[in-house]
Amino acid sequence: MNPEQPQAQAIAIAGTTIVALGTQEQILGLAIDGTIRLDLEGRTVYPGFIDSHSHWIGDRHVGGYETAEAVLAYAISLGWTSINELFVDQARLDELLALDAAGLLPMRVNAYLPINFTDDKFGEWYLEHPPGTDLSPHVRIAGIKLFMDHGWGENIHWTQSELNEYVLHAHENGYQVAAHTVGHDSLDMLLNAQAHALEMVPDLDPRFRIEHAIQVRDDQLQPLLDGGTIASIQLPGPADWPDDDLYQERMADDPLTWLMRWQDFLGFGIPTIGSTDWPWMTPEGYFDIPLTPFLATYMAVTRDGYFKLPVEPYQQAQTLTVEQSLLLLTINGAYGTFEEDRKGSLEPGKFADLVVISADPLTIPVDDLPAIEVLLTMVGGEVVYDTGLFSEE
Ligand SMILES: [Zn+2]
Repeated sequence: MNPEQPQAQAIAIAGTTIVALGTQEQILGLAIDGTIRLDLEGRTVYPGFIDSHSHWIGDRHVGGYETAEAVLAYAISLGWTSINELFVDQARLDELLALDAAGLLPMRVNAYLPINFTDDKFGEWYLEHPPGTDLSPHVRIAGIKLFMDHGWGENIHWTQSELNEYVLHAHENGYQVAAHTVGHDSLDMLLNAQAHALEMVPDLDPRFRIEHAIQVRDDQLQPLLDGGTIASIQLPGPADWPDDDLYQERMADDPLTWLMRWQDFLGFGIPTIGSTDWPWMTPEGYFDIPLTPFLATYMAVTRDGYFKLPVEPYQQAQTLTVEQSLLLLTINGAYGTFEEDRKGSLEPGKFADLVVISADPLTIPVDDLPAIEVLLTMVGGEVVYDTGLFSEE
């Protein structure tokens, strides 16, 4: 994921950080007394994967997990080393900090603090927690989350003036604003509020995020680009949504070309990040299928979902390539939280967050992607998951 050094034979790590990548000879030459050497026997290493929109911990009960420890162990076994939790209220923030203090949080978590779910607003409680800050080694406050709409865009939870006020206040205080926005009408309101905030306070890099970005008209692409807005898309989900009656009623009334236009976002130059939204885009009865970055990529590349519905032409036209999907789940994800200088690629100076996997997703047939296994997961130089394949020499 580093265009300047797309591939390397070996990697050197010191403490929490990557120090060098190069040939086996170069890297072995750096070893000193006590250096641990791990021979991967030619296996593939990728940067640890970033799930940019999820609820692994907060909504673990929906996915069938009782404890945070259990769901965290599951997520790292799938290759996720960073997750963004998109609904962290005070109780959930307290839980995350307690887990980290007890050494029970083996991955990096970015918290988005909600200011509403429906029409009722929670107030500006988030101001107590400074933005862009590591509250503990693995917990960072990223920004705020707001919900623009529900019911496939039918119910909008804001008036324009109220929205302008909240978005401006968060922006001027340095919080990134992530807005759940499904329908094109609520996207109009959000774009107005973002433009207003940028007009009032132009010298802050906002990286506004539109969560889901399901329905976007042609004339909304340029304002998204102009505002530097990030499209936060969920790689599972779109394949199965046509099964939903309300989706058919609300979304299929408008041009189908407005829907999940991922390839258009990328072609237009809109920064795009990828995620699972686990457990919300996994249908009941499918939780035993491991939602690895590679299964998510398979779904993004084929729009072949859990329900195996026929893939319609409007879906087919917007599928990602494998390479695009992997970028969305690594370096783009890091950009999504202003962390591209410390994770998202294997480069000297970045966190040693990585996975050893059973095959290279870029060279195998697309149909084999879901079968790729994670053999080892490392976060900050520490092995947090290991299938026992490798013994230290
Ligand atoms: Zn979500």
